[in-house]
Order: sequence, then structure tokens, then C-alpha cells
Amino acid sequence: MNLFQKFRDGLRKTSAKLADDIKRIVTRAPQLDEEALEELEAALIASDLGVDTATKITEQTRAAAKQSGQVDVFAIARAEIEQELAVGGSDIPVATAPRPVVILLVGVNGTGKTTSTGKLAHWLKGQGHSVLLAACDTFRAAAIEQLKIWGDRVGCEVIAGQYGADAAALAFDAASAAMKRNVDYLLIDTAGRLHTKRNLMDEMKKMHRSLAKVLPAAPHEVLLVLDGTTGANALNQAREFHAALGVTGLIVTKLDGTAKGGIVVAIARDLKLPVKFVGLGEQADDLQPFDPRQFSAALFGDTTQGPSRASG
Ligand code: GDP
Repeated sequence: MNLFQKFRDGLRKTSAKLADDIKRIVTRAPQLDEEALEELEAALIASDLGVDTATKITEQTRAAAKQSGQVDVFAIARAEIEQELAVGGSDIPVATAPRPVVILLVGVNGTGKTTSTGKLAHWLKGQGHSVLLAACDTFRAAAIEQLKIWGDRVGCEVIAGQYGADAAALAFDAASAAMKRNVDYLLIDTAGRLHTKRNLMDEMKKMHRSLAKVLPAAPHEVLLVLDGTTGANALNQAREFHAALGVTGLIVTKLDGTAKGGIVVAIARDLKLPVKFVGLGEQADDLQPFDPRQFSAALFGDTTQGPSRASG
């Protein structure tokens, strides 16, 4: 299955709802009168694209309808979404000497952080890279176990400590081990909530400092994992984490389970952060590198688009 088919299948719930709504509106009022345009705007907002984006698409549709009778709402929406999502590069840094590239995965519990860490390791290995995993979510015994299971599944060593161990010290050990073993990437799963009164953001900053002692440029990426089914909540979390930690990119998960996949657009637009990967299911290869063109084509049902970047 190529990347475009993956996007299309993963986003089926959102795109089917949008396509139904748009077709219903256009069929009933082909001239796209004011009432139809209002309905269109409401349908776009309901997919969580964000009010600004929904308004822009509606405005462009209104202008096009005035000029000619035949308006392709899907094409207008595709072009607008693609443009809004083209914020910065969605590539992750290439491993060059001195290795490793250190990637922190952050986010609140339940968003799919540990799962995404395992899937990202699988993806990187598929690209021919060596990967070491670090279980620095030491406040949840289950998270440590879960990462070990992912390590076995995708064939990566996992550096783990005891439940409750000092996460920053463990990150230091993992970075040292990754350097010694000359691996390309070190992926660090972090806590989403602490069981003590210590502040999560302080803990994360401490981890930054201890990584920088081993590798001055580390972490090279701070990827915030957001649950795509949580709508405005995901947007609020993103603002908070970005302000405290300087997030470099986003992973939006569970897009396969929602008809509100438009949230990806609202978040990228609001935070001006690139979406690097999206989670489109629970299997190891269901984390896919993000591609604005294919995403917008999948969302607004253009089956003629082929892959424009890495094939899946
Ligand atoms: P964490 O607490 O943030 O580390 O979250 P987990 O990695 O434990 O994931 C929480 C749940 O979400 C698990 O049941 C995962 O299988 C599920 N999950 C994660 N990503 C996706 C996704 O892209 N699609 C679907 N359908 N489920 C996902």
C-alpha cells in the first residue's frame, strides 16, 4: 500500500463525512447561494479544521461561484489546506556525525506517545537506520514494559531503569550508550504526568540539560504527540508544551478513529509547527511521515493523486 492509500484509508472517517456534506450541499443548491455557503462553512468547522480555515475556504468558494457557475469546492479546499500545512520542513534531521540524532517524544498520557516511539523506531529502521530506545517515562511501570515490548517487536534495544528512577539520569545513560554504540537515532519516551508534586515541565528541562552534557546539540528534535480525537484539547496541550519546551514538530495520532481529522490543520496553523508524522492505526507501520499534499488530497477525496514524497 503506498503512502497516499494509507492516508486515504486512515482519514476515511473524516473525508467520508466531509464528502457527504459537501455533495449534499452542492446537489441541493448547485448555484451555491448564501444558505448553501453557510452550510458549507458549518460542515468544514464540524471537521475541526478551525474557523479561520473554514472561513477562507468558504470565501474562496463564494468568489468562485460569483465568477462562474461551476465550482469545484473539493479543489478549492485541497489547495487551501495544502498551503496552510506547508509550515517548515516535515523531515526529521538526518543522522550525521556526531551521532546519534536524539529525539524526545513528549505529550500527556494516553495520546499514543509510547506507541508512537515504537512505531517511529520501526519506520527509521525501515529507512536503514540503527535505533536505540530509552524508557524515560519512569513514573509508569506499564509504559516501561510497553516500550520493551515494542523494542522486541521492532528489533531495537531498550535502555530502561527501575520504576520511579530519575528520568534525567536515565536519559544521560541512554545518550552515552547511544554514542558508544554509534547508533543513528536515540528515541526517548518521556512521562506525560508525574506522580509526585514535581513539575513535569521542570523535569523535562532537567532532561534537556542532562542530554546536552553528553551531546551539546541534543535533543535535536522535541516531538509533541497529540491525540487527534481530542480536538480543542489537543490544541491547548500543544500551546502549553510548546511554550515550556520549544517543540520542533508534531505527531498527531488516532486519525483513523475520528471524523474530525481536520484538527491537524487547526494545530499546524495555530502553532506554526510542522506535523512530522501522523498515526493512522495501531500497527507498527501505521505511523506515516506527513505530506501536506497527500493529506489534503486524502481529506478532500482526490483519488488521482500519487505519492509526492517517500512512498509508503
Ligand atoms: P501514551 O500513554 O501516550 O504512551 O499512550 P500509548 O502509546 O500507551 O497509547 C494509548 C492507546 O492509543 C493505545 O491503546 C494505542 O494502541 C492507541 N494508539 C496510539 N496511536 C494510535 C493510532 O494512530 N491509531 C489508533 N487507532 N490507536 C492508537
